[in-house]
Amino acid sequence: MSLTMKPLEQLDAENHSHESREEVAFYVRVKARYVEIEYWYERLFASHDIGDFERDMLPDTYDGARLWASLAAGDINNARRSIDSIFPFGSTDEILGHLKKYKEEVQQSLAALVPKQVAKALLPATVPKRRGNQQKQECPGDMLERASVFFSCTSCGERALPWSKVNVHWHERHPDIHFFDDGGWPRKKLHVRFWEEGHQTVQKILAVLRFGSQTSAAHLDSLVKSGRLYCACGDPSLELPDELIWAKLVKHLHVHLEMNYAFKNTHLMVFKGRVVTWIDDHRLQDCIKCLPLHADTSTSSHRFSADAATRTRVERHLDKIVNPVCAVCRALAADVTTPSELATIAQSCLSRNADAIVYHLKAKHGRDFREEDVTSKSS
Ligand SMILES: [Zn+2]
Ligand SMILES: [Zn+2]
Ligand SMILES: [Zn+2]
Repeated sequence: MSLTMKPLEQLDAENHSHESREEVAFYVRVKARYVEIEYWYERLFASHDIGDFERDMLPDTYDGARLWASLAAGDINNARRSIDSIFPFGSTDEILGHLKKYKEEVQQSLAALVPKQVAKALLPATVPKRRGNQQKQECPGDMLERASVFFSCTSCGERALPWSKVNVHWHERHPDIHFFDDGGWPRKKLHVRFWEEGHQTVQKILAVLRFGSQTSAAHLDSLVKSGRLYCACGDPSLELPDELIWAKLVKHLHVHLEMNYAFKNTHLMVFKGRVVTWIDDHRLQDCIKCLPLHADTSTSSHRFSADAATRTRVERHLDKIVNPVCAVCRALAADVTTPSELATIAQSCLSRNADAIVYHLKAKHGRDFREEDVTSKSS
């Protein structure tokens, strides 16, 4: 009987194909297992109400399921049994206790992103410890509560995220990506950075308010919500006090300061037969107001609104435009040797809110609305 030898290339190809089939089967099984763990993880919170704030601090469904990667991929025998039968914790409380370490891990990772010099100014000067003196030690979480500590998302660019909203932002905007970008908890690297520009803006605001750099965001949140701390510009795109938080007020002021900075080198020019310019309507010492306790706070809710006829005209005009931009801003930007930042800002779309458009033209250019002032981004 003759033994037919297969050529080496064919054996190689067959082995390779066998390995590929196994890999695919493994991948499919792990994927299905994760779906099962995600479902189990969701049920955990459906059956155990821990409050919105605590839930916001914990991993989302995607990350939560991947905390127990070994249940999905580690042990081939386990991977075929039900999740409940192999779970390493006996009770829901034990599981939640374990999950709470995640919050500490997030706090530590975020605190590590704050530059050392900044961190030093945010924490009280250390008092030498005397023997027997039980001095309270500040933990990373304390520094994160300061009014000037914000983060920006390196994935989508969102800014002014207080530490407690970073996790929530990730849940909502990036639900299918690991929050820790080097694989998963308990790793250290997050998809965010310290918002240095915002920190500088807050320093300027705090200086106007005569508040120290260690002021807490919670204190300013309560002032903002009660209408005692506000921006007096009347910009309709700014939320009313009961919907506003310190972070949103900071972002509002930062965006206006950023625009002022970008337009500072523009000049008076003639646009469509009329002289136009850029007006700085956000000098911090004039627009930030902080009222004493029991003061009348009704001015904090003032928002500019156009008259009915003008609003109708703007809305009709917007019906013809997909992405509205301010033609005056574009003309001003085109008239100078343009730094790219100015060009980008001048190309930014206006809100589709008619009041906000009329406010922009009036506050920034001193003009009443005309259709020719708002054009489509592409034109
Ligand atoms: Zn993002
Ligand atoms: Zn303002
Ligand atoms: Zn403009």
